[in-house]
Amino acid sequence: DFEVLVIGGGPAGAAAAIYAARKGISTGIAAERFGGQVSDTMGIENLISVPYTEGPKLVSAMEQHVNEYEVDIMNMQRAEKLIPAAQPGGLHEVKLANGASLKSRTLILSTGARWRQMGVPGEEEYRNKGVAYCPHCDGPLFKGKRVAVIGGGNSGVEAAIDLAGIVGHVTLIEFGDQMRADEVLQKKLRSLDNVKIITSGQTTEVVGENGRVSGLNYTDRTTGEAHHIELEGIFVQIGLVPNTEWLKGDIELSQHGEIIVNDRNETSIPGVFAAGDATTVPYKQIVISMGEGAKASLSAFDFLIRNSAQ
Ligand code: FAD
Repeated sequence: DFEVLVIGGGPAGAAAAIYAARKGISTGIAAERFGGQVSDTMGIENLISVPYTEGPKLVSAMEQHVNEYEVDIMNMQRAEKLIPAAQPGGLHEVKLANGASLKSRTLILSTGARWRQMGVPGEEEYRNKGVAYCPHCDGPLFKGKRVAVIGGGNSGVEAAIDLAGIVGHVTLIEFGDQMRADEVLQKKLRSLDNVKIITSGQTTEVVGENGRVSGLNYTDRTTGEAHHIELEGIFVQIGLVPNTEWLKGDIELSQHGEIIVNDRNETSIPGVFAAGDATTVPYKQIVISMGEGAKASLSAFDFLIRNSAQ
């Protein structure tokens, strides 16, 4: 049995495990893939005090840091079911895909999220070679260049406004016949002179040259006509999906499937905390996930000292 069991080994989970272990309490971390989204990231320039690093480098640094402490790391373990403690202060159970079961007095859920992909030819091939998902992260790499933003919801329109201040030109492509973002955002976007808005546009292919994105093809859904745009970058903003399917019905989730947390990272179940991209915390970033993981861990410790039966 653990006192703190962390599910998920991204920045949130790594931070939670380190903070728990430093309290001298028995700590475990089970992750499908240690490192999480960071493993898929190229350059990282916004982790404060580290001006530049790369995903795999940061993952190995996180792992080394966790290994400084007595943490039971269970990598390549997928959690499939949460069974909350029968009584407050009791043991929560997490069932793993391999059939095993882990028990802990507190849980920290940090299973992160994944960007919804367009699923068109070229998208996977040119990922990190012009195809990007995070404007806060990769926007500055396209300074003065031409980019497209796919998706006219709030995140797409916010991304387009943000990028318009950095890049040379932004084309926003919305699938529906109108953007779905809040009117105030749409108005702001329309006021920018280096932005073009295309509605009823269905992206059909990411086109590349010499190993990098050189354009995209889309179909005008009203006329059926095919079009090509030359550009250097494509920001896909059609949704961030939290990895919380396994928790449905057992814990309170938002309408977007995010684990609802308060400012102490408490969930709807006493003794179960959550942190990072899987939660309702606004702004999904490495530095924020790390802070949230630390916060969740301190809350778990606080819970333990208030509920120590033995
Ligand atoms: P994640 O990193 O998503 O980690 C989730 C963890 O949970 C993983 O270990 C995963 O395997 C595990 N997991 C999932 N489901 C289960 C399950 N059922 N059972 C067990 N384990 C499970 N942010 C920045 O700040 N700067 C950047 O430059 C930057 N660039 C990015 C580039 C790309 C391509 C992407 C995709 C994201 C980028 N981000 C960047 C965002 C950043 O990576 C995330 O905000 C951050 O990784 C979230 O951390 P997390 O720990 O909450 O979740």
